[in-house]
Amino acid sequence: DYRELDHKKLTPMLQHYVQVKEQYPHALLLYRVGDFFECFFQDAVTLSVQLELALTSRDGGKEIGRVPMTGVPHHALERYCPQLVEKGYPVVVCDQTEDAAVAQAEKRMVTREITKILTPGTLTDESMLSARQNNFLAAVVLAKDYWGLAYADISTGEFFTTQARGLEHLHQELMRLQPSEILMPTDAPDLGKMLRPGEKSDRLPEGLPDCFCYSWRSQVVFSLQEATDRLLSKFKVRSLEGMGCDRIPLGVRAAGGLLEYVEETQKQNAVTLQLLRSYSTQDFLILDHQSRRNLEITETVRDRTFNGSLLCAIDRTLTAMGGRALRRWILQPLLKVKGIEARQDTIAELVQDTELRDSIRQNLRQIADLERLTGKAGSGSANAKDLISLAASLAQLPHLAQLASQGRSPFLRALQTVPPELEQLAHKIKAYLVENPPQQLKEGGLIQAGVNGDLDDMRSEAQEDQEWLASLETRERERTGISNLKVGYNKTFGYYISIARSKADRVPEDYTRKQTLVNEERYITQELKEREARILSAREDLNQLEYELFVQLRTEVGEQTELIRSVSRAVAAIDGLSGLAQVAVVQGYCRPTLTEGREIIIREGRHPVVEQTLGRPFFVPNSTSLAKNDKKESTDLVILTGPNASGKSCYLRQVGLIQLMAQIGSFVPATSATLGLCDRIFTRVGAVDDLATGQSTFMVEMNETANILNHGTSHSLVLLDEIGRGTATFDGLSIAWAVAEYLATEIKARTIFATHYHELNELASILDNVANYQVTVKEMPDKIIFLHQVQPGGADKSYGIEAGRLAGLPKVVIERAKQVMTQIEQHSKIAVGLRQGISKS
Ligand code: ADP
Repeated sequence: DYRELDHKKLTPMLQHYVQVKEQYPHALLLYRVGDFFECFFQDAVTLSVQLELALTSRDGGKEIGRVPMTGVPHHALERYCPQLVEKGYPVVVCDQTEDAAVAQAEKRMVTREITKILTPGTLTDESMLSARQNNFLAAVVLAKDYWGLAYADISTGEFFTTQARGLEHLHQELMRLQPSEILMPTDAPDLGKMLRPGEKSDRLPEGLPDCFCYSWRSQVVFSLQEATDRLLSKFKVRSLEGMGCDRIPLGVRAAGGLLEYVEETQKQNAVTLQLLRSYSTQDFLILDHQSRRNLEITETVRDRTFNGSLLCAIDRTLTAMGGRALRRWILQPLLKVKGIEARQDTIAELVQDTELRDSIRQNLRQIADLERLTGKAGSGSANAKDLISLAASLAQLPHLAQLASQGRSPFLRALQTVPPELEQLAHKIKAYLVENPPQQLKEGGLIQAGVNGDLDDMRSEAQEDQEWLASLETRERERTGISNLKVGYNKTFGYYISIARSKADRVPEDYTRKQTLVNEERYITQELKEREARILSAREDLNQLEYELFVQLRTEVGEQTELIRSVSRAVAAIDGLSGLAQVAVVQGYCRPTLTEGREIIIREGRHPVVEQTLGRPFFVPNSTSLAKNDKKESTDLVILTGPNASGKSCYLRQVGLIQLMAQIGSFVPATSATLGLCDRIFTRVGAVDDLATGQSTFMVEMNETANILNHGTSHSLVLLDEIGRGTATFDGLSIAWAVAEYLATEIKARTIFATHYHELNELASILDNVANYQVTVKEMPDKIIFLHQVQPGGADKSYGIEAGRLAGLPKVVIERAKQVMTQIEQHSKIAVGLRQGISKS
């Protein structure tokens, strides 16, 4: 460990290394030495373990001896850094910032500076990001039961903040955002330390999920004064009011702390963030993490893959921005009819007008990730290919705008015209850069002829040099009589004359041998050497000029970031909505009617994911009718019974998914639907999959049920699957009964309750707003055929015994089981005894 050594005894370079390292004790410091980025001391061990590299050593100073060292070649840095960050290590890169030869000539140490700090939440390189997902950095400030949360995606510029009460809501927000990194203020000494996902720490305040990466930052930058000042000066505004932040001090503090971190880690890359905006978690339908998981919104429960999720089933977007927008919508369903209808209107237009939809989608295909590309231009990390692709996309926009202006709805109208600056910019980029530029920016070949007079002059000189070299070859061939003599070039030796070894005896006197290869001798001449010096310095100047011209252009693009992003938001919305229109057409969805009421009426609804896996004709549609307005005997709670694998869970989820889809503005898989807005959707599905958390499944189940009973309202939709199954039968049945009763009488939430306990069917006989439904099967002599039809009525029979018979249990056992069952049934007419209890309460 370097901390135990006397620093003065280290070599000068290691002394500098330690100085830098002490500023970032918790990050991996990659320090440039020659052609390598090296780690020393403990970092070297970590690096070698994490990347499976050989651990070597280096002289640390006369009295110190060898110190551990591991390195990666400088050109491989971009490849290794993301791996390290992904494994949860922040990386600090300290690079040489001058030509090593200069320093050597002056007999001093080459200057090095920190050029990059990479942390999970501040990545901008697209190779490290997934195109259709935001990469959020979050910051949290807690004050007793209140909290402030800010989050930003520095690759797209989104920047939001909010403040609320109750840590469980914070937990939910974090689970929705899935931030790559969360900043927390602290005054403890281990500042800068990062907690990796899953790592335990006393420092993590209770109630916050441990599945994220946390970085502790100085609380000073989170103070209201500093945060306010920083935000005001960053966005050049005079008060917080314009951002809607004047009344959410905790939100402001979180945002200020986040901004400081972005500035600190991005160093020379100026990140363009959009003006901070505040939002309220109450503006959106609440879907807690469990429910989101159960309904498989963005990933499946079983293997956490995107395939098989709702998002995958309905995502037909064609641009990265559109993909990210749809993901945001699906995680933040709306609560206002107006906002939902605005989206529906656009979808409806595009559903009807096939030609318009196809042309728009054809156009969208050619639009690259404008949001991130322009961000890269602004922060100076875009290369020439990026600009070309940006220009090609910008050039598409006028056509897209022209198509969109054929529409009537606001989302299409939003893109009526593309600002002329952007068209000009696209033209300029195209006129400036060659069509297929190289990845490298400092080796020339980027800028077209005719852009810059000096550049053209320099190029024609370079051309002359080339011609001179060609003529030299001809001349020397004639002079020596060696017909395969060649003039060549390589980076280490410069220009040379190459001659096959067999001909080496015919070489003239004035050739000086420079290098010997297997079949070849390489020479230089005085004349060639003199010319070479000129050629090389001219080339260097030429490349430098090209680079400067490129950087100028890139800066100009960067200056348009805000404009480009505002247009790309409009494009993202059009993409998201035309994608939803596309899936609506292909899958035969209908436009639901949204109301402020409570009814959930679905005719011939289908499960959007299962119907796509099975193939539409194989899926049996089922209707739903809950809380029908005008009817007295309207049902709030459905008890759903049916044998295993008959389709109970599928039906349950289908109702939840249709409601959710409707609230993001999408059309839904049904022939018609009238849906009252939900404030929350709760699900409690299955009792098997929480083993990993170490809690007993029954406790998990009870926690979740408690959550539903404590937070549900008459506008919630509650989907329960097999509550009470995790414990003994009578316990379980009793709890299931009481829960169902409470939901139906106290909360009056719209509820579907799938259960094995047929006894629950009796509830319907005492409560008006409870109805029994069953998923039907057809019994054949030797098998059961699943019809997957949901029909009124309770299944009065348990198929368990039937299943046992089909499995081949001995006949006497089956007969006996039937006797036992009749006996039990006679004793368990629950409702008779309970009727009184209910009417009292
Ligand atoms: P349960 O919850 O009753 O045990 P599931 O809902 O898990 O049953 O359904 C079992 C299987 O039946 C599902 O995997 C699905 O393939 C099929 N299924 C369910 N509902 C339908 C339906 N409406 N149409 C066609 N197949 C269905």
